Amino acid sequence: MTNAVSLGRAMWRGFTMKCPHCGEGRLFGRFLKVADHCAACGESYSAQRADDLPAYLVIVAVGHAVVPALLAMETAYAPPYWVQALIWLPITLLSSLALLQPVKGAVVGLQWQTGMHGFQESKQRRVADARRLAQASI
Ligand SMILES: [Zn+2]
Repeated sequence: MTNAVSLGRAMWRGFTMKCPHCGEGRLFGRFLKVADHCAACGESYSAQRADDLPAYLVIVAVGHAVVPALLAMETAYAPPYWVQALIWLPITLLSSLALLQPVKGAVVGLQWQTGMHGFQESKQRRVADARRLAQASI
């Protein structure tokens, strides 16, 4: 397998909760627990350090969708507050839960592709493999 995985592809594979390296194996063992390694290609993910970034990104994304919609509804219809809460709290909760795992996967894909944190060794190995393949094809 060549190591020509672009940043966008690695992040997309992570967003779809697949291994950024091969795109086949599952990235997560449980809801927000990244697997130690890919079952398909063996790439290690124990070095990932997504920390709080996925949560911050989800807050920004959901907030930018929900708050304007809530304000538009308030401006147009001025429903009672309990109606607003009944509508927007579940939407906020469900959309946040739905986005958290894919966004975390994209962040892990970003870290893996760029060699951040504990992925430096993996990145160096992939670059060396790509160079070896390029020299072999000359
Ligand atoms: Zn894999």
